[in-house]
Amino acid sequence: MYNLAKYQKLKNKINRIERAELGFFPTQIYKLENLSARYGVNIYLKRDDLSGFSTFGGNKIRKLEFLFGEILEQGAQNIFTYGATQSNHALQTAIACRRYNLNPILYLVDVIGEGIKDPKANILLDKVLGAEIKIIEFKENEDEFEAMYRAKAESKNYAQEISESEDDYYLIPPGGASPLGTLGFVNAYLEMKAQEFKEDLNFKNVFHATGTGGTLGGLTAANKFINDDIQVHGINVSHKDDSYLKEVAELSTAALNLLGIDFKLSDRDIIVDNNYVGAGYEIPSTRANRAVKIFAEDEGIFLDPVYTGKAAAGMIDYLEKGKIEKGSDLLFWHTGGTNALFAEKKILGNLLDNHI
Ligand SMILES: *Cc1c(COP(=O)(O)O)cnc(C)c1O
Repeated sequence: MYNLAKYQKLKNKINRIERAELGFFPTQIYKLENLSARYGVNIYLKRDDLSGFSTFGGNKIRKLEFLFGEILEQGAQNIFTYGATQSNHALQTAIACRRYNLNPILYLVDVIGEGIKDPKANILLDKVLGAEIKIIEFKENEDEFEAMYRAKAESKNYAQEISESEDDYYLIPPGGASPLGTLGFVNAYLEMKAQEFKEDLNFKNVFHATGTGGTLGGLTAANKFINDDIQVHGINVSHKDDSYLKEVAELSTAALNLLGIDFKLSDRDIIVDNNYVGAGYEIPSTRANRAVKIFAEDEGIFLDPVYTGKAAAGMIDYLEKGKIEKGSDLLFWHTGGTNALFAEKKILGNLLDNHI
């Protein structure tokens, strides 16, 4: 049983942090009856894909609520962020900017090498929003996250050039994964605990897709601080080594420190599974596509090939291998990203084949 006093303390501290309103919370949790019957485990879905306010929500909205709290306080006009050309985070940032009359400037790494001659899915929506888009060529020996961090360094000159003062621009890191953005998922964990209590559920495992690590870091920070026994599994969507565990632990610790809580997480606190990445970030895998099909055909739920499909592939593999206790409650955190179903064929892979 988690520590209720610590839960309350965390909640009080987080409520004191400046926050913008960018979505409809709490997001719904409900049971996936057909999948639950298939695997003999009570599988619940948390609909952060329906976070609002726009049609195209997702997990980044939670981080952006805290980041825009600071942005509005600072009074910045030019908002920079970074991602792949199909970045969900970049799109959600541009959406948030429009709500507050700010100027979105997106540095997008062309991971799949298709440019933007024929814009589809997120980059199409970025254009509809009138965001300023800079395409970053992806270097051979660089991983996509290194390229995004390089773009961040490069963008600073431009930020200074177009801004009247330091306060006039704000650089949001890839995925919004700063300590402040990570608070969005510390808060999300508390939101989930309240729903669990109200519905008389008892989650043993939570599964989600991990990329920049802000989601995993925030959820794990709250989980460890309140001494909860839920296992928070981050299924990786890009190749990373063990230094990732340390990075996420540091991000979790820094997020708690922002609240004035002196609590340290170590790499041993972070649960990551690297077995479902496939060939790499934004590269489709048969396992992920099979998971997308299972969710669609069993439940009418759309996942995506880049993030949630890979996370679901991991979860389904655990279920099929009997790694999850029968009859226990499990939560799959739908982090959004379904717009990728309308992205380039390269991202979809064999999704439309008859048998996968
Ligand atoms: C960004 C993203 C994730 C991963 O979240 P991080 O906080 O970057 O680890 C998962 N799913 C979707 C759909 C995303 O867009």
